[in-house]
Amino acid sequence: MTEGQQAISGATRLAALFGYPARYSLSPSLHNAAYAAMGIDARYVVLPVQPEDLGVAVASVRAFDMLGASVTLPHKEGVIEFLDEISPTANALNAVNTIVNDSKRLIGHNTDGDGFVTSLNTDAGFTPAQQSCVVLGAGGAARAVVLALANAGASEIAIINRTPERSAACVDLAPQIARIGTTSDIATASLVVNATPVGQHGVGPADETPVDTALLSDQHLVVDLIYVPEQTQLLINAEKQGAQTLNGLGMLIHQAARQIELWTGQQAPVDIMRNAVTDN
Ligand code: NAP
Repeated sequence: MTEGQQAISGATRLAALFGYPARYSLSPSLHNAAYAAMGIDARYVVLPVQPEDLGVAVASVRAFDMLGASVTLPHKEGVIEFLDEISPTANALNAVNTIVNDSKRLIGHNTDGDGFVTSLNTDAGFTPAQQSCVVLGAGGAARAVVLALANAGASEIAIINRTPERSAACVDLAPQIARIGTTSDIATASLVVNATPVGQHGVGPADETPVDTALLSDQHLVVDLIYVPEQTQLLINAEKQGAQTLNGLGMLIHQAARQIELWTGQQAPVDIMRNAVTDN
């Protein structure tokens, strides 16, 4: 049992992560540590849910009066049809990562963008307002980052992605300030975000990086949404160039903290959550 955790009783609430395959995840450690510290009688578990079972899984949030559920790949879009309502952010992104159970009315939210910007603010002391940004990638994570940066007042966002159609769809999230970018945008940006899996453990060569190192300098904050490994080749190179760097662990922690706040109405203990998934 996690320190401070209450014994399981008839009153213990369940929270879960729905994904497939969803075996390895830091989310149970983050959530259970938070519930223990907050004195919340609940447990968070990973539940692998095959796509054909998603409707039943969502219905179980009501049936078991669960605290709520997190939603990950491949269900972030598919889950929408089973919910009663979705938040404006989840609607814009067409992706839900959080189900809130409001007296059996199920509301879909997306906390990834909030988690990203909170991590920028609190872990790197960076405020996006009036800043020029480059986002590499145009998948689910990139979309959450672009919308959140736009909402936080970024002055421009250049999106660089392999598949132009996906870049264009990402630009449509914030057409006033976002545009399709090129590598030449990197040198002049304040913030560079890797939202591709290039450099992630188990995805391609470990020393692969999505950015030409020569483009990075001490003018940059370079963020890699990857957190395994802790320091990707991109972050190693960026640091050598004098750039400030940040990995994706803070985003993961803060998006989970936001979920807990949506589920309980209470502030989540982010330091305790971080300690639960790191050695320090
Ligand atoms: P996704 O929806 O599959 O999107 C992946 C994006 O990366 C796409 O734009 C894809 O380009 C691009 N890409 C993939 N392989 C590439 C390659 N070899 N070279 C260049 N571009 C490539 O994935 P996602 O959910 O957005 O996740 C992206 C990364 O963010 C993953 O590493 C994930 O673990 C991480 N992430 C972290 C957090 C966090 O909390 N820290 C949250 C979410 C995601 P195309 O459009 O051309 O296919």
